Parts: sequence; C-alpha cells; structure tokens
Amino acid sequence: VVLVGAGPGDVELLTLKAVRALGEADVVLLDDLVNREVLQFTRPGTRVIEVGKRGGCKSTPQAFIEKLMIRYASRGECVARVKGGDPFVFGRGGEECATLEAAGIPVEVMSGITAGVAAPASAGIPITHRDCTHGVTFITGHTRDGAPPDWRALAAGGTTLVIYMGIANIESIVHGLRSGGMAADIPAAVIENGTRPNQRVLTTTLANLDAHVREARIGSPAVVVLGEVARHARQAASIAFTEARTSRAA
Ligand code: SAH
Repeated sequence: VVLVGAGPGDVELLTLKAVRALGEADVVLLDDLVNREVLQFTRPGTRVIEVGKRGGCKSTPQAFIEKLMIRYASRGECVARVKGGDPFVFGRGGEECATLEAAGIPVEVMSGITAGVAAPASAGIPITHRDCTHGVTFITGHTRDGAPPDWRALAAGGTTLVIYMGIANIESIVHGLRSGGMAADIPAAVIENGTRPNQRVLTTTLANLDAHVREARIGSPAVVVLGEVARHARQAASIAFTEARTSRAA
C-alpha cells in the first residue's frame, strides 16, 4: 500500500512520486478532497474506489477503508491510498500505517503539498516572514473528542496560526482565541478551494472573522490564516471587507 499525498487541488502540484504511484496502482482509493484529474495518471483498467470522508457524514467509515486496503493488498494487488494534501497532516495517515503494519502489509508514504502551506501561498500569503513572525502553528478546528486546544498558549505563541477544518466551528475558535488573549485586530485570511480555479480569499480581522465567514458563505474546504502575514493576501479576486462594513459587522 502506498499512502499518496495528492496536494491541495491543482493537479500540477502532484509530486512525481505520486504520478508514478498512480501509474503503478491496481487499486486506487480516492478521498473526496482529491481532484479527479489525478486519475489521468492511472492505467486503463485500474479499479477506482471513492472513499469520501468529508465532514464525517455520508462517508465511508475509516475501519471499512482500512479493511479494503488490507483485502486488496493481501491479494497481491498494489493499492494507492490517495489523500488530499499530505497524508500525515490531519490525514489519518498515521492510523492507517499502524493498521497496515499490524496486518503485516508493507506501506510506503509519499508526502504531498499540504493545504495549510499551498492555499495561503496561492493567495500571496507567506506563512513565515522575517519581519513579523518566527514560526507557524498548524491546528485543526475539529478534534475527534471535541476537546478545545489551549487557546491561551496559541494566542501567546506569537506564530502564524493556520487552522484546518475550522469553518464549522469558527465562532468557538474566534471566541477561544479572543478569550485566550489574541488581539481583536490581528489580520485574518480565509482561503477557500485554495489552488483551484474557484479559489476565494477572504481578508478580515480576528474580531470579524466569524461574521465575515458567514456573510461570504465560506464553505469547505478552507483554511484560516491568522497573523500579520495575512496582510500580504492578494486583493485581486478576494473578498475584502472595507472598514465601514467591518465596523457594521462588529
Ligand atoms: N491532509 C490534508 C488535510 C486534510 S483535512 C492536507 O495536508 O492538506 C481537510 C482540511 O484541509 C479542510 O477542512 C481544509 O481546512 C483543508 N484543505 C484541504 N484542501 C484545501 C484547499 N484546496 N483549500 C483550502 N483548504 C483546504
């Protein structure tokens, strides 16, 4: 089994390794965030199985996906498990590796370009910048047990914050960071469908983030960037809220 990172959406952001793995696979298990254009690199006759996992509903249970991988691999077939972004960044790659190894199946991991790096870049945002931040922190806005992160530590850290899966819980994220001490006027950007033709970029501030996400009807997939670097978002083709609208929404 090869765990393949397919990158954030733009098919040109696939790695050469991913293209090779797709070409060698007998079976491809495809996550729903993966651009279907990647299938152009499979051989004719490759079995393609869609195993969407978005939002936890209408998805194939993780245990069943793992069972499928073990079933095909045990028959000697070459399985490519293709995931959005990088398989080891909020992608359950660690769990799948452990399960496969326990079943005695050799597994290889092929890194992909993660959305938390590529989507901001595609919007003109450098997630680190010597002028304003000494690092970046990646977090998920959606944990398995619903336990909140240490908002105070995140707010005090002073690094750029990149939040995956944050849209559904945006109100509680904003509330947590504000009560953890993050300044209301910290620049924020939201990149929806990063690197894809339908990419949208919303620029706002922490104080107005939840209201503006709702107003712009931001949907999945989207990443949130918080920090001074968000000021670098390219305004072309972005949804910028003016001061007047900002204060009305506040
Ligand atoms: N393994 C993936 C992340 C899977 S979690 C990776 O490394 O990118 C799914 C979350 O990734 C989404 O909720 C969203 O926050 C983010 N995401 C994935 N693709 C995206 C894209 N094209 N644009 C913006 N965010 C994206």
